[in-house]
Amino acid sequence: MAKSDYQLFVIGGGSGGVRAARIAATLGARVAIAESFRYGGTCVIRGCVPKKLLVYASHFADDFEDAAGFGWRVPPATFSWPELIAAKDREISRLSGLYQDNLQRSGVTVLNGHARLIDRHTVAVDGQTFSAENILIATGGRPYLPAIEGIEHAITSNEVFDLPQMPRRVLIVGGGFIAVEFAGILHGLGAQVTLAYRGEQVLRGFDHSLRQHLHDAMVARGVRVLLHTDVTRLSRRQDGTLDAQLKGENSSTEAFDAVLYATGRVPATEGLGLAEAGVTLGERGEVKVNEWRCSNVPGIYAVGDVTDHIALTPVAIREGAAVAQALFGTNPQPVDLAVVPAAVFSQPPIGTAGLSEERALQRHGEIDVYQSAFRPMRNILAGRDERTLVKLVVDTATQKVLGAHMIGPDAPEIIQGIGIAVRMGATKAQFDAVVAIHPTAAEEFVTLKDKVTRRREA
Ligand code: NDP
Repeated sequence: MAKSDYQLFVIGGGSGGVRAARIAATLGARVAIAESFRYGGTCVIRGCVPKKLLVYASHFADDFEDAAGFGWRVPPATFSWPELIAAKDREISRLSGLYQDNLQRSGVTVLNGHARLIDRHTVAVDGQTFSAENILIATGGRPYLPAIEGIEHAITSNEVFDLPQMPRRVLIVGGGFIAVEFAGILHGLGAQVTLAYRGEQVLRGFDHSLRQHLHDAMVARGVRVLLHTDVTRLSRRQDGTLDAQLKGENSSTEAFDAVLYATGRVPATEGLGLAEAGVTLGERGEVKVNEWRCSNVPGIYAVGDVTDHIALTPVAIREGAAVAQALFGTNPQPVDLAVVPAAVFSQPPIGTAGLSEERALQRHGEIDVYQSAFRPMRNILAGRDERTLVKLVVDTATQKVLGAHMIGPDAPEIIQGIGIAVRMGATKAQFDAVVAIHPTAAEEFVTLKDKVTRRREA
């Protein structure tokens, strides 16, 4: 067989694709990568990174307010959205440039353009064709919008980062990660935020204590949360105002300056020629893969959001690395996703590792639940009533900690460490054997005493 142009051709320059390309090249393979938008992918360009910068920005509102309790007199603060967005853009450009530089430094051929499969060993990028022994699909996802009348007036997380001005009255539709994160961001920056969610409580799938706590904290901060509420129609007035028809427990038509849909994401598999290459796609358009992230076509792999599995950057990175190691390394290992800690950068933020109480009960039958809610030290002088919640879910039979959950300042930072213990299968007694660091909020994880035992109903 004639030598292929590349041993690995990666389509998509986001977290998963870039990691796979760099590792493969470092292992000595001939690698090319193609990206049609900007290197860095959703996480760097319009996801995790700009979101976190906006979360930092919005937190200053709390800081200015709380400072008075510590003796500071802060003059009335003003905020400039265009300045924040410009600063964010500079950082995103810097990071995107770094991604490209690092790829090139690793010896990867970096292409800018839309790639599509011609057959299982041929990729075309804007008319130019390349042969490849292996192809990795790492094209990520895109926002999903339900087909309601006037949906074209809505924005998504793709557009919200680039609005020229911050909208004053915002409707956020959805109750997942993006919805609650942007509710906190925009509220903190001074917008009037209404969140409309169709279900009974935000963050479906998370531990019920976290969901209730976040809901109550958002409401107490001034976010208007409408549960059991659907948006059935959007229309735009001549002056640009949007009218949203709300149906459910709260039926009305209300005016907003922007309507942000955060109703999930779908895999970006259109226009890639996957069907032509014989690749099996699932119901949502996702590439179906096995534990090695190989599709039904040998030599065609997929990682990250395009597989519609766990849509988190570190998961895509792990998967990309695993594919590169399996193809060109000496010690291939499938990706182990037994415990995937996660954070929601809501306000207050959430950190979680392992099973929710509901899931643990379902799987293990009998569990011990330890929980503590307290006012973090800073809130006392600040005059803030918001409480922090810390919770451990323990298997009664083995005493292993199945889940660790926290909502409150620094929860994501704290849970990353706790996740190690959960992943290692630590028991409650092993948590308790660790000496506390005082005064911290994290010490609650090693001092929890009050236990409630729950049994699954027959
Ligand atoms: P999510 O899946 O988290 O949430 C989607 C929300 O939209 C749910 O509340 C869902 O309701 C609702 N929804 C879905 N379809 C409709 C519909 N037709 N009408 C009304 N509501 C609807 O998606 P996001 O868009 O918030 O985020 C996408 C993914 O990106 C996340 O799942 C996560 O993996 C990732 N992400 C991670 C972040 C982090 O790590 N901090 C931050 C942001 C995103 P229901 O619950 O009833 O299905």
